[in-house]
Amino acid sequence: MYLNNIKRGSVLLTLVFLLVACQQQQSAAKKTYPLHYSDAIFGTTFTIKVSNLPDSVSTKEVRGQVKQLLDNLNAHMSTYQPDSELSVINANQSNDWLSVSTPLYTVLKQAQKISELSSGAFDITVGPLVNLWGFGPDPISFVAPADTVIKQHLTTLGYQNLLFNDKNQTIKKTIAELYLDLSAIAKGYAVDQVGLLLESLGITDYMVEIGGELKLKGHNISNKPWRIAVEKPSAGNRMIQKVLPLSDISLATSGDYRNYFELEGVRFSHTIDPRTGKPITHKLASITILSDTTMKADALATALMVLGSEQGFELAEQQNIAALFIIKTDDGFVEKASSSFVARLR
Ligand code: ADP
Ligand code: MG
Repeated sequence: MYLNNIKRGSVLLTLVFLLVACQQQQSAAKKTYPLHYSDAIFGTTFTIKVSNLPDSVSTKEVRGQVKQLLDNLNAHMSTYQPDSELSVINANQSNDWLSVSTPLYTVLKQAQKISELSSGAFDITVGPLVNLWGFGPDPISFVAPADTVIKQHLTTLGYQNLLFNDKNQTIKKTIAELYLDLSAIAKGYAVDQVGLLLESLGITDYMVEIGGELKLKGHNISNKPWRIAVEKPSAGNRMIQKVLPLSDISLATSGDYRNYFELEGVRFSHTIDPRTGKPITHKLASITILSDTTMKADALATALMVLGSEQGFELAEQQNIAALFIIKTDDGFVEKASSSFVARLR
């Protein structure tokens, strides 16, 4: 069936639904950051703010090094770039052990851990279904996949089919067609790496954001914790749900209200439930995770988004995950914060 009446929720490939609220402070409005750098990467945008720039470091130097780092990570992990390291692995339809670079191996291993933790709710081998539903690098077909096609795709995925050998940093696909998609974790890893780069240059106070995934260190320009606004989940006007004062922490969000398409009133999210092969449909509007690394926060946000507000909340409590759930109700939204989230903000 061809979908008519399609509304793309967003031209962005990833969600950016966090507003940095520090500008709202009257006192901060007059001060400008010594480094405030935004550009496009990974089919989305990034923003870096530095509150204190050491005299020995020029903004030009930082920008150049950040751009180089991000371009390099893209060359490892993009599924949009046919010659990236990941695309070459995806194209290699063999059961051979394959050598993998350190950045890619790190991200694949972390992805595997989150898959195990979430009993497969998070699964980077879900890529073919992401593409099938029109959210991947392939041109959007506007075709609602038939159940038989979905079922057939389900037989060629599963994180358990990716094996690791830590000794020589190699991986092996037990199913030759296995296709890996790091869209739900690579942005987080990139944020962490940009943070490390800034720290190596002697920068102690910064905010790094890529496609809505953030790392916050030290203080903002007003010498206060960074103020991060979690947006109210709605596709229309951007409104603030909650402002969080944060330092020395990472934050990621997943939500279904910006990247989706709609067919005759039914909304299809870009988050796929690997157990059904279909976009998630439950009433969890968005989820925000606080963690020590952005990579973990990014992947956990998608994992709990798939699990939903009940199973996801249970897992958050069990594993001490700091998670804020925003749930749709008939007359608005309700919030549910895990104990760990409440404790982190205290
Ligand atoms: P969000 O901010 O909503 O989490 P991301 O861009 O971080 O958005 O992650 C969504 C992307 O993750 C999708 O576009 C898809 O490529 C991929 N994805 C979808 N479902 C899953 C899943 N269950 N496990 C891992 N990755 C997924
Ligand atoms: Mg994410």
